[in-house]
Amino acid sequence: MSRFLSNRFSSIEPYTPGEQPKVMNLIKLNTNESPFPPSPKVIEALNKEEISKLNLYSDPDTKEVIDAVAAALDVKPKQVLMGNGSDEILAFAFQAFCDSSNQPCFADITYGFYPVFCELFGLKPEIIPLRDDLSLAPEDYFSKNKPIFIANPNAPTGLALSIPQIEEILKSNSNSIVLIDEAYVDFGAESAISLINKYDNLIVSRTFSKSRNLAGARIGFAVANEELIQDMCKMKFSFNPYNLNRLSITAGKESVLDTEYFDYCINEIIKTRDFTVNELEKRGFKIPDSKANFIFPEHEKISGEYYFTELRKRNILVRYFKTEKIKNHVRITIGSKEQMEALIVATDEILKG
Ligand SMILES: *Cc1c(COP(=O)(O)O)cnc(C)c1O
Repeated sequence: MSRFLSNRFSSIEPYTPGEQPKVMNLIKLNTNESPFPPSPKVIEALNKEEISKLNLYSDPDTKEVIDAVAAALDVKPKQVLMGNGSDEILAFAFQAFCDSSNQPCFADITYGFYPVFCELFGLKPEIIPLRDDLSLAPEDYFSKNKPIFIANPNAPTGLALSIPQIEEILKSNSNSIVLIDEAYVDFGAESAISLINKYDNLIVSRTFSKSRNLAGARIGFAVANEELIQDMCKMKFSFNPYNLNRLSITAGKESVLDTEYFDYCINEIIKTRDFTVNELEKRGFKIPDSKANFIFPEHEKISGEYYFTELRKRNILVRYFKTEKIKNHVRITIGSKEQMEALIVATDEILKG
């Protein structure tokens, strides 16, 4: 730390992204990326002609991609805001809707970036523990009357709430925003976007990083009523008006238009998730019912750290967490069928000891 850093940030603990190893022969199942490349339509569109326009700023209104997203979701373009990843959308929401008299609340076990945003913006969140089975009980969020952030499906558990459950939370907190982070919703959960015209306190955030094979393009978005979108737009235009670059606007639009490839990839990942869950359960693992592109198994004979370390020795990278409540689990991204077969082979070796 230099002697110049503002005191406000002297104790901040930044988010730790999953390892992005430089060695190539590793099976990388640690950051919930897709094993599939972007849509062929995306690859075709990012051509020399597009690149040669990079001397010009991108469209600050990101109209092309917003129009495509809005049409696909059957909402108005004014109900959509694009972000540089959904992390940026989350930042806009914490900044716009939380302060000393509107402290946010979220689960103890959820996306690790929420507490980091709180530190960055000087907020003191209320932490609401998950139940012992790692489920999120909607009633724990009733009448909080403060901004609520819920990842649905939750990370790293993969468990999802139903729309009626989310609706109860919205109804009992009508004077506060409820942000539903749907980073993983495409892998089998129900989206709350159908509720945005009914509840003026609902914000849904989504990303192209997981289900659209575009983690490196940094594209996310929010869907909400026009007023909430305008508030978050204020944040964007006070911070980084050109938050999406030209290539990402084009990539995002082409990705949304290619519904066939999207459906194919999602189906493959769901099939491979079912295969992996089945194989691991046969070997004694307990796994919460995942609606995401990752699973969160635990085994009574081995700790999360041990399983992680032994997999790492066999060139398979997963994620484990030191937090007491989940220290026996590892989070495994669903990769290709071949990658998951390799995981099972390695797991058999590890269990034999
Ligand atoms: C990955 C993830 C995000 C952010 O993804 P971006 O790459 O910034 O779009 C947000 N929320 C959750 C729960 C995630 O797992």
